[in-house]
Amino acid sequence: MKKKIAVIAGDGIGPEIVGEAVRVLKKVAKKFGHTFVLDEKLVGGAAYDAVGDCLPDDTLKACQQADAVLLGAVGGPKWDKLPGPQRPEKRALLTLRKELGLFANLRPAKVWDPLKSASPLKPEIVGEGLDLLVVRELTGGVYFGEHSRAADGQSALDKMPYSVMEIERIARVAFESARKRHSHVTCVDKANVLETSRLWREVVQRVHDADYATVDLDFMYVDNAAMQLVRAPSRFDVILTENMFGDILSDEASQITGSIGMLPSASLRADGFGMYEPIHGSAPDIAGLGIANPLATILSAAMMLRHTFGLTQEADAVEAAVGQVLAAGDRTVDIATADAAALSTHDMGTAVVEAL
Ligand code: NAD
Repeated sequence: MKKKIAVIAGDGIGPEIVGEAVRVLKKVAKKFGHTFVLDEKLVGGAAYDAVGDCLPDDTLKACQQADAVLLGAVGGPKWDKLPGPQRPEKRALLTLRKELGLFANLRPAKVWDPLKSASPLKPEIVGEGLDLLVVRELTGGVYFGEHSRAADGQSALDKMPYSVMEIERIARVAFESARKRHSHVTCVDKANVLETSRLWREVVQRVHDADYATVDLDFMYVDNAAMQLVRAPSRFDVILTENMFGDILSDEASQITGSIGMLPSASLRADGFGMYEPIHGSAPDIAGLGIANPLATILSAAMMLRHTFGLTQEADAVEAAVGQVLAAGDRTVDIATADAAALSTHDMGTAVVEAL
């Protein structure tokens, strides 16, 4: 198989962690006989410094022309004073999502067996493990609605629009994902207050009854869901929710796994095209030290192989290699125990490449 991947490493630890994921992709290509053409481009603050724009035209074009995008992270204190629309997070991330039509954000949150003790939750709550998937709507709702400030500066307004089409297509992603997991979707909303949430309930129920009646479906208010995630996280399989609730809940879900450096994500379009990135940011506090955990980015590359390229065996192999290095006790500093020496970013990448 021949595929073109736009590689946009970004800022902070971005180039360090993406470098390791690229090594893993090259090993996969060699081992399984594929060709991955890598098109490396600038994004975020790095692009701003080079050409005065956090998302240069040739970067956007490369992403549009690729079969998939691998992103590190963008942003950092150096660019925090840029006006809102020019900032890396807004100009690069939100524009990429919108321009590429990436409406579905998949964030698996899983506690790897050898890392169970890293969860801040009590062992009796983590129980047999924690393995859930947040399916978050990514191009609608309040983040993309109209934002305005009254002329006198005394009030502000953020609109939260949703259409039936937007809800229906993300609901289908959640139900399809649940079919491949434990067949249970929890739709999280605030239907006791918000009209958009009441529309979500109607549409999600209708899609369920028409096409996914064998999948279990329940509804939960977002405040309760935030509580249940720390009280009884194993009750969840797939959490389906709108943009802002998903942003918040998926960060909470990631934290209960205890390791932000372990969690991948996929942002998908209806045709399977996707942008893949770790859920963490550019970690300016450790950038350049060579100690960042590259596993979230490596696991994001595995998601790319699975979801966009349909390379199940290859994705399984990468995930198994990660499981193997963790079982062998390899740790970067964020997941290390006090008594063990931590590997560098590059050595962790090497361990995964060798395990492959
Ligand atoms: P962050 O995720 O970058 O860092 C939070 C903490 O986790 C830091 O202590 C960091 O050292 C640690 N950490 C993160 N990734 C790690 C890894 N792979 N290995 C080891 N430790 C890791 O969040 P932040 O500090 O709030 O944000 C820093 C910058 O990143 C900000 O400019 C923010 O806007 C941006 N950001 C970008 C994205 C993105 O590009 N998708 C997402 C979140 C934040």
